Amino acid sequence: MNYFKIIEKINGLKNCCKNFSIGKSLLGEDIVCFHLGSEKGKQIVVEGGIHAREYISTLFLLEEIDYLLNKKFDGGIYIIPLMNPDGVRLVLDGASFIQDENLKKFLININGSEDFSLWKANANAVDLNVNYDVFWGEGKQNVRKLASANFIGYYANSEIENINFLNFIKKINFSGSLSFHSKGEVIYYGFKLRGERLKEEKQIVKVLSKLNGYMPIKTKNSTGGLSDYLSYYYKVPAFTIELGSDHLRHPITEKFLPSIFQKNKQIITTFLNLV
Ligand SMILES: [Zn+2]
Repeated sequence: MNYFKIIEKINGLKNCCKNFSIGKSLLGEDIVCFHLGSEKGKQIVVEGGIHAREYISTLFLLEEIDYLLNKKFDGGIYIIPLMNPDGVRLVLDGASFIQDENLKKFLININGSEDFSLWKANANAVDLNVNYDVFWGEGKQNVRKLASANFIGYYANSEIENINFLNFIKKINFSGSLSFHSKGEVIYYGFKLRGERLKEEKQIVKVLSKLNGYMPIKTKNSTGGLSDYLSYYYKVPAFTIELGSDHLRHPITEKFLPSIFQKNKQIITTFLNLV
């Protein structure tokens, strides 16, 4: 797998369904959003490729778009398969594509090697999924300096990829979100929730868990994540799904895509029905 193959797949899908860019990454790559189904009725938002080394989530969503093209369902689904294009490119191709010599040196220095296969952050060495302005800096794994993983940024919502997403989300109506990561075969739900909303999320997660066999876990130590943000401010069910067994090593490669796809192909439309 290389970055070009992912872009080729994204470009191929552009001919099949409605799509637009929610903005550009730090290094100028379009962050593409596909829309499947109807503009009318319930809408959900689905994201992948936030953590660079977890690009299996991007591959899964691209496969899923293909699959959903021939399926009938009520409502609509926004899918953003590659939220962190620069990070995923670093993982797959290394830093050689970066033109700016200073930036290249900076990234290799932070990474500690030219092998970027375990890189999680964007091209600013900020972890996008701890950078959102929701209890920012209160997470258990938070790192407070530039790093290949878990650096929260110098301030909340500092990263262009996240700013683009927040601007996009303001313009649409949506009833729920699924954010795909890897790994562990678990579904995180219930961020800061109690009472009725927690009960509702528990019911939904139970159904999803039955479908893919993943274990539901109430979110505890996470803050600043995309699902956390949407659940807290938009008050919709927003789950984080960790694809692939914990026995696998990062990054999970395309070899494991068929089994991951089989387990998860019904998850998105089922979620759409439940929210
Ligand atoms: Zn992740």
